[in-house]
Amino acid sequence: MKNNGRLFVISGPSGVGKGTICKQLVERNKNISVSVSATTRKPRTEDAEGVTYYFKTEAEFKQMIDDGKFLEWANYNGNYYGTPGDAVDERLSKGLDIILEIEAQGALNVMKKRPDAVSIFVVPPDTETLYQRLKNRGSESPEEIEERLKAAEWELSQKENYDYIVVNDCLDEAIAKIENIIKDEKENI
Ligand code: 5GP
Repeated sequence: MKNNGRLFVISGPSGVGKGTICKQLVERNKNISVSVSATTRKPRTEDAEGVTYYFKTEAEFKQMIDDGKFLEWANYNGNYYGTPGDAVDERLSKGLDIILEIEAQGALNVMKKRPDAVSIFVVPPDTETLYQRLKNRGSESPEEIEERLKAAEWELSQKENYDYIVVNDCLDEAIAKIENIIKDEKENI
């Protein structure tokens, strides 16, 4: 397959700021887009079908798994999330870069399947900051926050598996570091 674009995986625990980072990366770099995932989680007020996610029932999602539609998928705290493979390959074959903004189980699977992918793990300065960020964004119940923090423990234990680790203490600095990583990796094809 002709494959000129680069595949970037940006992972890290929920609340670390990957969404904000990716949004700004896309705004500032016209050659990059973020893959739109499918999920069975319920839409939040800020969600839009086909923009933030493709919202699926569990039966629809499982059918997509059986049909081999996903580059990767994971069950994260009781909901399914997955990256549709065709859209990623289409973009790469056009020579365009794509970012997968995904949790760690999926990220590790992509690294196995696509060794050419560049993996970046975003970490919080400390777990208290992560907790405060999750609490302040107000999109999850206290129980969900607990579950996400529990998942974060395992995710953080996997950080050495990534090509790069970036601390998101100051947002602008974290974005600048990731932009530099992307630039370096593009130059070293
Ligand atoms: P949220 O429910 O906050 O939108 O997402 C929960 C977690 O799932 C986040 O860490 C997010 O990055 C991750 N996620 C979103 N889409 C995908 C996907 O397609 N695959 C995997 N493995 N994780 C995803």
